[in-house]
Amino acid sequence: MKQGNKTGRISFALTLMAAAFVGLGQAQAKEVTDADIVNDAKTPGDVLSFGLGTQGQRYSELTAVNTKTVKDLVPVWSFSFGGEKQRGQESQPVIFDGKMYVTASYSRLFALDAKTGKKLWKYEHRLPDGIMPCCDVINRGAALYGDLVIFATLDAQLVAMNKDTGKVVWKEKLDDYAAGYSASAAPQIVKGMVITGVSGGEFGIVGRIDARDAKTGKLIWTRPTVEGHMGYKFDKDGNKTETGVSGTTNATWTGDMWKTGGAATWNGVTYDPETNLIFAGTGNPAPWNSHLRPGDNLFSSSTVAIEPESGKIVWHYQTTPHDGWDFDGVNEFVSFDYKGKDGKVVKAGGKADRNGFFFVLDRTNGKLLNAFPFVKDITWAKSIDLATGRPNYVDDNRPGDPAAGDGKQGKSVFASPSFLGGKNQMPMAYSPKTGLFYVPANEWGMDIWNEPASYKKGAAFMGAGFTIKALHDDHIGVMRAMDPATGKVVWENKNYAPLWGGVLTTAGGLVFYGTPEGFLKAVDAKTGKELWKFQTGSGVVAPPVTWTQDGEQYISVVSGWGGAVPLWGGDVAKRVNYLEQGGSVWVFKLHKS
Ligand code: CA
Ligand code: CA
Repeated sequence: MKQGNKTGRISFALTLMAAAFVGLGQAQAKEVTDADIVNDAKTPGDVLSFGLGTQGQRYSELTAVNTKTVKDLVPVWSFSFGGEKQRGQESQPVIFDGKMYVTASYSRLFALDAKTGKKLWKYEHRLPDGIMPCCDVINRGAALYGDLVIFATLDAQLVAMNKDTGKVVWKEKLDDYAAGYSASAAPQIVKGMVITGVSGGEFGIVGRIDARDAKTGKLIWTRPTVEGHMGYKFDKDGNKTETGVSGTTNATWTGDMWKTGGAATWNGVTYDPETNLIFAGTGNPAPWNSHLRPGDNLFSSSTVAIEPESGKIVWHYQTTPHDGWDFDGVNEFVSFDYKGKDGKVVKAGGKADRNGFFFVLDRTNGKLLNAFPFVKDITWAKSIDLATGRPNYVDDNRPGDPAAGDGKQGKSVFASPSFLGGKNQMPMAYSPKTGLFYVPANEWGMDIWNEPASYKKGAAFMGAGFTIKALHDDHIGVMRAMDPATGKVVWENKNYAPLWGGVLTTAGGLVFYGTPEGFLKAVDAKTGKELWKFQTGSGVVAPPVTWTQDGEQYISVVSGWGGAVPLWGGDVAKRVNYLEQGGSVWVFKLHKS
């Protein structure tokens, strides 16, 4: 029995040691859970999702950096993305367990120590020749789940790496880059699934939302965002089952045009746990020449609400039916509590659309609650009819049909906003404290005309010509604080170059945003008064974030001029061609005196 006792003691000791190792192992590699992601907006110790919470409010409850203390904000570190690969840097960092994961141009991802900026590892995606990103070689950020960090690449793949080692765990092809597909949006995690869209609306691709098992990358369901296309769900072995076509074939499209109908979901999704709905924005119908595709062209230029369990479209709201101006409806749909004129609080969502109007919808059913312009001088529609939910079009402002004239070029019109939009990809913020949306807007117009177009795989499918022009000598960008109930501009700050970065707002009474001129700015959330600014060395076209670590509040933003404006901006691109490229991430905190 003595021997037995000894063995018993040894095995007990081994069990203790094993338990200690397991404990250590857990401490070294904390995992991101579904609960962590659902609670992200309420946990300032990390930033786990694009939008600082899947609802997309970009609001932080942190108050250490506030209207009084922000003057003492100083840089802690800066990290260069290095190499010769600069161009547009539109990424929002995510931060977990003391580490920052930030993506960069040309499908790169860096893991950094969030306090010191020390590089931990880097992933550089091998991009093939012949990728066709429409709007620069940008990426908007990564998602975190379990022990993985996941991001989309310009050749339309999804890559998941171990967040602590950088080792690739799975890699899945979203679609064929040679057919014009690409991907640059930050994925969103919903109930253990990684939710992504696709880019390529200028190449006649078919938009859709995919849900994959975040741990393995295997497809769970796919939902096309063009009427007539079949949805599918997949079992564990990859066998697919039909889940019905989206909409009703040929109800809002004629002939076969829906087969190359666009509606690219290139800006990703938000997710509202309260209604259990994924909100996806969809891009322009293809081609741009609207005379080739009579009808509303669902579900292009819309917000589409999708049930995460089934991949079914629960409701949709089309911001630009029968779009003729490239008014992609991809801008983020931000969940918030809306107090209407009757004082009743409604579960709502807000979207500042490319077309210049701000839409407030009941997010349980997609019903329009309010709509108002957030930019001046809109030419294509007089207003949005609150009863029908449809625009009151100005028919003369639709670019003309080439077939009505010489067959080569239709009547040119000057339309505002330009196709780069009253607002584009740069995400706005909503403060539950002030009840205001902070919208990075632009005031510009375009000459636009239609041309014939025919689909050819991998070639631009547009049928339009255009040039963008500034409306004012002294500014294009305008940061606007908008009241969603009244539609009134509470304050505005003009900016010479077009605004292209996102916004962050905090309980400290601040709004942070960057400018193409290189400044990260902090302004008073109530008045817009500038309280602090810092020159980051290149244009800021990315959204700032904030978090707390070891009792201190940190602010971070990526810097690096580029994106769609220099490539598509026409006269505006010439106006801002003095801006220099870059590629770095900055981190700030309060100076301790
Ligand atoms: Ca958090
Ligand atoms: Ca487009």
